[in-house]
Amino acid sequence: MFDYHMHTCYSGDSDAPVEDMIEAAIKKGLSSICITDHHDPDFPQDECDFTLNTDSYFPAMESFREKYRSKIDVRIGVELGLQPHLGPYFADYIKNYPFDFIIGSTHVAGGQDVYYPAYYKGRNESEAYGEYFETVLENLNAFSDIDVCGHLDYVVRYGPNKNRYYTYEAYASYLEPILKLLIEKNIGLEVNTGGYKRGLGTTNPMPDVIRRYLSLGGEIITLGADAHTPDMVAYEFPRAVALLKECGVRYLCTFQQRKPVFHKL
Ligand SMILES: [Zn+2]
Ligand SMILES: [Zn+2]
Repeated sequence: MFDYHMHTCYSGDSDAPVEDMIEAAIKKGLSSICITDHHDPDFPQDECDFTLNTDSYFPAMESFREKYRSKIDVRIGVELGLQPHLGPYFADYIKNYPFDFIIGSTHVAGGQDVYYPAYYKGRNESEAYGEYFETVLENLNAFSDIDVCGHLDYVVRYGPNKNRYYTYEAYASYLEPILKLLIEKNIGLEVNTGGYKRGLGTTNPMPDVIRRYLSLGGEIITLGADAHTPDMVAYEFPRAVALLKECGVRYLCTFQQRKPVFHKL
């Protein structure tokens, strides 16, 4: 099995030593992982710096990849925090580093991190969620040289009612164009088990989004726990795999030098 979304102390919000993350993955019997530390330049909140020092990150990851080569495949990735105005910046940035895998995630909408309650204040849930999905589409139009779209319905983790009233039908007008664009641009869909940790009872995105991606012709699916600590590596993977099978997913992807490799589920 493969965990293709995890953070280490190179991310502004994790203290986990890289070795501890890799060793946790080996203990769980994973054959391949991708470390995807945050790079969110121009992040609006002051509390945390999510800018990745990629010049030191990249050689460090290369040395870990060598050190653990006989035990596990360590791939080098990044989770880009997309914002519409950063398209040209990211296009230039990714040219400088031979990443195996690039996740494009939307954390910020309307100038705020949707993680914070302030984003939901003074308006109803459908406006808040709708603005988030509009921003995802805007971000993908501004920059699409990514391998997967990270945790597509991330916003429902943090809304006051989380996913209680969230259905595919209610947000289809936002989600359909996003899924169609992903497929047109050959971008995969990341299935993120962080939703289980946040009490949603499901992954991000939810199963109906995964089903719709497949029915529209999408084929590239990756699985990631979004672990920021070693104990969360491959979190709830058996549950997620059962859900993926139920959705009709037949292959999971790993990536090497930005090329997908399909593995039978
Ligand atoms: Zn993220
Ligand atoms: Zn992440």
